[in-house]
Amino acid sequence: MNLEPRTLTVLLSLQLLTLGLALPLLTGLRGNATMRWAQGSLWAQLGTWAVVVLVGHPLPLPALILGYGLGGLSFVLALRALQGWLGPRPGMKWAWALWLLAAPLLVLGQPYPKLQQAGLNLWLALLQGLVVLGAWAPAPKAHESSRRWRTLLALPLLPLMGLSLWRAFIGWTDPVAYPALTGSHPVAQAYLVLSGLAASFAALAFMSAWRGEAEGRLRHQAKTDSLTQLSNRRAFQQRGAEMLAVARRHREPLALYLLDVDHFKQINDIHGHISGDEALGLLARLLKQVVRPGDCVARLGGEEFAVLLARTEGQGVEAVDARLRTALGVEAERELGFALDFSAGWALLRHGDRSVEDILRRADVGLYAAKNGGRGRLCAEPSLMPAPAP
Ligand code: GH3
Ligand code: MG
Ligand code: MG
Repeated sequence: MNLEPRTLTVLLSLQLLTLGLALPLLTGLRGNATMRWAQGSLWAQLGTWAVVVLVGHPLPLPALILGYGLGGLSFVLALRALQGWLGPRPGMKWAWALWLLAAPLLVLGQPYPKLQQAGLNLWLALLQGLVVLGAWAPAPKAHESSRRWRTLLALPLLPLMGLSLWRAFIGWTDPVAYPALTGSHPVAQAYLVLSGLAASFAALAFMSAWRGEAEGRLRHQAKTDSLTQLSNRRAFQQRGAEMLAVARRHREPLALYLLDVDHFKQINDIHGHISGDEALGLLARLLKQVVRPGDCVARLGGEEFAVLLARTEGQGVEAVDARLRTALGVEAERELGFALDFSAGWALLRHGDRSVEDILRRADVGLYAAKNGGRGRLCAEPSLMPAPAP
């Protein structure tokens, strides 16, 4: 099948124009910086083919610089978008540096067509390779489902890279037979068709990444308390079930520490709700500081917080409670300008417990005892209370 080169480039431009318009229409022009890089990538590629269509064969040097510059930029922007979605990507700086090489390669390479043709295609293959690397390089923070769209983006780039290398090889070994993209050489035509396919797959991958990002945000919101950024009750129960299973499997102790701010209603009444919110934020921060990284800290509601302490027994809970009281004693006066105190209860995982709620219920009895005993103290669940002196 031999397609007229100009028709092919016009069709490719129209396809990119459609994708370039559809993407912002579906995802919005404002609000998502990463999606803008991705959209920019498609528009830059459209720019390349628009130059080819509008200027025609043979392209003068300024049009070549513009065309290759925009083509290279489309890969750099795609990699930048990947960085937004997946975290730092290897080769990002190299991609920008390579991109800057296009103009010198074209200008200085003019007297050496062999070198220029081979160099430019090698340059393209490297940029395409960096996008493939960026898509497949490990991304610890990315959700498991990102693998699918990353593959969708990277796979079509592999044959495109192969064709670039092939064009570099022909350009070096047989410059007369060089498959210029404005010509009807089958390699050039295959490159144009594959470019179109890769752009379509890239647009689908970008949409998928964008949706994945939104889902990730929702997942985070569903598990997080918005005021303190701690886990909310639902996340506490989920994480609690996991910690309970681990503690059982390894026959390790697991403690639940529950606390409630004393006379918090008065604090709101005297200092205002905003100061009340700041007090909750401070308590949440200090609570995070005084426990171990693997422990689960949550705001269960209002001014009530809970911590699941892995591999911890009574002494450990008492130590956490003491550290928190010391820190709060210093920080509350300094940051809030008033004192803050709390009552706390704790309980340990027992043989018959079916869920975290069972431990929580007993810790709550301890908390109730602390409130009744005069507040500002820590009490264990009833069965762990020291026996009263005879
Ligand atoms: P106690 O020592 O018995 O625990 O008394 P308390 O005043 O702390 O307890 P109470 O249950 O009577 O009041 C809790 C208060 O916490 C009432 C409510 O307005 C306030 N509160 C709950 N959630 C928030 C919040 O997100 N921000 C602020 N500022 N206040 C909150
Ligand atoms: Mg309270
Ligand atoms: Mg309360």
